[in-house]
Amino acid sequence: MTSGSAHRRKTAREAALARAVEDGLLGPGAPLVGLLDVDGVLAAVDALNEAFEGAATVQHTFAAKACGLVPVLRLLADAGMGCEVASPGELEQALAAGFTPDRLVFDSPAKTVEELEFALEHGIAVNLDNFQELERVDRLLAGREPAGPIGLRVNPQVGAGAIGAMSTATATSKFGVALRDPGAVDAVIDAFTRRPWLNRLHAHVGSQGCPLPLIAQGVSAAYDLAERINDQLGHARITGLDIGGGLPVNFDTEDDRPTYSDYVAELRDAAPGLFDGRYTLVTEFGRSLLAKSGTIGSLVEYTKSAGGRQIAVTHAGAQVATRTVFMPDAWPLRVGVFDAAGRPKDGPLQVVDIAGPCCFAGDLTAAARELPAIEPGDVVALYDTGAYYFSSHFSYNSLPRPAVYGYRTDRSGRIRLAMVREAQSIREVVEESGLSHADALVALYEGDREPNAVSGR
Ligand SMILES: *Cc1c(COP(=O)(O)O)cnc(C)c1O
Repeated sequence: MTSGSAHRRKTAREAALARAVEDGLLGPGAPLVGLLDVDGVLAAVDALNEAFEGAATVQHTFAAKACGLVPVLRLLADAGMGCEVASPGELEQALAAGFTPDRLVFDSPAKTVEELEFALEHGIAVNLDNFQELERVDRLLAGREPAGPIGLRVNPQVGAGAIGAMSTATATSKFGVALRDPGAVDAVIDAFTRRPWLNRLHAHVGSQGCPLPLIAQGVSAAYDLAERINDQLGHARITGLDIGGGLPVNFDTEDDRPTYSDYVAELRDAAPGLFDGRYTLVTEFGRSLLAKSGTIGSLVEYTKSAGGRQIAVTHAGAQVATRTVFMPDAWPLRVGVFDAAGRPKDGPLQVVDIAGPCCFAGDLTAAARELPAIEPGDVVALYDTGAYYFSSHFSYNSLPRPAVYGYRTDRSGRIRLAMVREAQSIREVVEESGLSHADALVALYEGDREPNAVSGR
C-alpha cells in the first residue's frame, strides 16, 4: 500500500479516537476500548487479492485466531475471504459469521475425533498434521470419500525467524511432518500413494519475524514435494497447495511493508511454477490483514515518578497486550498521546513508561519512551493492535474484556462507529469464575469436620 493509505489511516484513527471520547465510549466510564478501521481492513483484502491475481485459482482465508470476533469475520466473509480455523471455538465463530463450509480450512495440531468427523462430513478442507492423524482419518472414513479437500501439513525445516515462538518451521517444531528427518519424504510419498483422497500439501512457515525469503523457501519446498509426488503417482493427485500465512507486519512506522506484492514477487522467484494454474492456492493470512487497522485506547488514570522515571498508569496492560508485555523486545508497539478531548498532544517530550493495570511489575506496554507530557485524564493509544491484541484477551487479575468498535469514514467525511463486542461486565467475570459452584469445595469436606469459622459465616 502507498503512503496515501498510511495518511488516510492516521487521519481516520485520530477522528475515531476523538469521536469515541466525545461519545463517552472511551473515558472515565469506559477506560479501555478497542477500535478497528473497517476501511483499512477492506483495503488490505483488496491489496491481497491484487497481489495474487493471475492464472492460479486462489482461495484466501483469514486466520481466525488473529481476530476471533464474529462481526470482523462477517466483514471478511462479505469481502470474499475464506476462514482458517484451528479450534472448535473458531470453527463455530466462522460458521456464525456466515462462512459456508467450503470456504473453511481446518488446521490444528490436536484435532479430536469429533472435530474431524464434523469437518469430513461437512466438506470442510482439513490439513492433517501427522501420520497418526492420517490413520485416524482412515478409520473415520472407512473407505468413504471425504466431502472436501484433505491436505497434509509439512514442516520444511527451513529454520527460525527473529522470534522463536513464532517460527513454525524449525527442526523441532511441533507442526506437521518434519520433511528433513530421515525417511520422512518417502513416508509422505507412501502416505499419498496409499490414500487417493489425500490431495493437498500445507506449509505455514512462521509468523511475525520470519523474513520473506525464509517463508518463500518453505513454500518452495512444499511445491517441490508436490511436484515429486504427482510425478511419482503419474497424475496430478495434489491439486491444492496451502501456503499458510505469516506476512510480517511493520510495527515501527505507519507504512505497510512488506506488501503482499513483495511477498508474491519473492514466491514467484523461489517457485515460478506455483502460479501457473496447475494448483489451487490457499493462503491463511492473519496479522497482516488486521494489525495496522486496530488501536487500543486507554484512559490515563494516574501519573507518577519512581527512581527518576516518569510512569503513566493506564488500563491497557498484559490483558490486551500480552505479547508486548511479556516479550517487549520482540513486540514493541507505537504509542500515541491524546488529551482529555481526544486531540493529539504535542509539546515538549518526556521519557516515560506506559504501565498497565495488572499487578506485576513488568506490566508495561512501553518503556522509556519519548512522548509528549502525559497527565491524568489523557488518552494513550497503542497502535497496530488489530490482530492478536484486544481480540486475544488474557484474563489476568480477572480484568474484563474491553468493548470493541469498528469505524468507517462515510461519504461526507464523518466517522461512523459500530459496536463489535460489548465490554465484559464484572458480573460476567464473576459468573465465569465458577460462581454457580461457589460451595463445591467446602461441600467436599462437609461432614468430615466440625463446623468451623467458614461454615459459620
Ligand atoms: C497463525 C497461523 C496463521 C496466520 O499467521 P499470521 O502470522 O497471523 O499471518 C496461518 N496459518 C496457520 C496454520 C497458523 O497457525
